[in-house]
Amino acid sequence: MLPFDFDYFKPDTLEEAVELFQYLDHNGKQPMFFSGGTELITLGRIDLAYTEAVIDIKEIADCRVMSLNGGQLLLGSTLTLTEIEETNLFPLLTKTASEIADHTARVKITLGGNICARIFYREAVLPFLLADSQVVIVGPEGKKAVPIHEIFHEQLLLNRGELLVQTITESRFIRAPFFAIKRRQQWETGYPLITVAALKIDEKVRVAVSGLCPFPFRSKEVEIALNSGQSIEARVEAALRVLPRPILDDVEGSADYRLFVFRNILTDALYKLEKERI
Ligand SMILES: Cc1cc2nc3c(=O)[nH]c(=O)nc-3n(C[C@H](O)[C@H](O)[C@H](O)COP(=O)(O)OP(=O)(O)OC[C@H]3O[C@@H](n4cnc5c(N)ncnc54)[C@H](O)[C@@H]3O)c2cc1C
Repeated sequence: MLPFDFDYFKPDTLEEAVELFQYLDHNGKQPMFFSGGTELITLGRIDLAYTEAVIDIKEIADCRVMSLNGGQLLLGSTLTLTEIEETNLFPLLTKTASEIADHTARVKITLGGNICARIFYREAVLPFLLADSQVVIVGPEGKKAVPIHEIFHEQLLLNRGELLVQTITESRFIRAPFFAIKRRQQWETGYPLITVAALKIDEKVRVAVSGLCPFPFRSKEVEIALNSGQSIEARVEAALRVLPRPILDDVEGSADYRLFVFRNILTDALYKLEKERI
């Protein structure tokens, strides 16, 4: 049960959703886009989220797109993680998404909801960072496609009233060899101690990480170190020296323990991807 009431709106089009947001915002309703809705339920119950108007975007057709045409994969933001797993158009995304929460939650959690979530793990963004994807955004200024690296820095930097519509990924990335692993401190579902997704393209390894820092990241400095031509162990040590900071240090795991686990995962990823040629 949520300790507050709110009005519920279900627009049919992007234009309607954007206009509704502006109208409700102007009238002090603190509107919130609602996709899978798990965040409002989780955070609303403990007074960390509040709204007087929910705008449910789940059924807007542009947000439901799933197509692989002309060398591009389009994925709508309100596809659920289970829909993405079942169609398996982007195997690295399937693997990453299938480790988020448990099956019951993944039936609800959506791609866009996970990428835009306030809870900072946002694991579903990792494959898109590796694949230099674009994101389609709509807002009061209209619709545009933006390279993910221009708009995702720790989180998706949307202006007020903007929403994520789709991701666009070139098919050569979805066919590239990959490695993905999630380590948890306890249980078999839930938030990560560390999640690493890696991909090999043009003979270079790319790595994106969630759970090591209080934000997901892909780092140019880390990738330069990992592709430097020394032994795998030396490359991993060099990568550890240029990690973004801070390293998480909490009940899930100390910073030292996280770095220990991360070192082992990176080493495994390099040994696996070293054998792949593309
Ligand atoms: C039991 C459980 C375990 C979980 N474990 C993990 C885990 O291990 N790793 C992990 O990464 N996540 C995990 N999550 C998911 C995470 O914490 C969020 O709850 C979830 O990702 C939100 O997705 P949603 O589709 O429900 O989004 P919603 O709750 O609908 O929205 C989330 C936020 O994003 C905004 N939003 C939604 N869609 C859009 C859009 N298209 N454009 C702009 N803004 C938008 C909403 O306004 C809201 O602020 C878990 C969740 C649960 C319930």
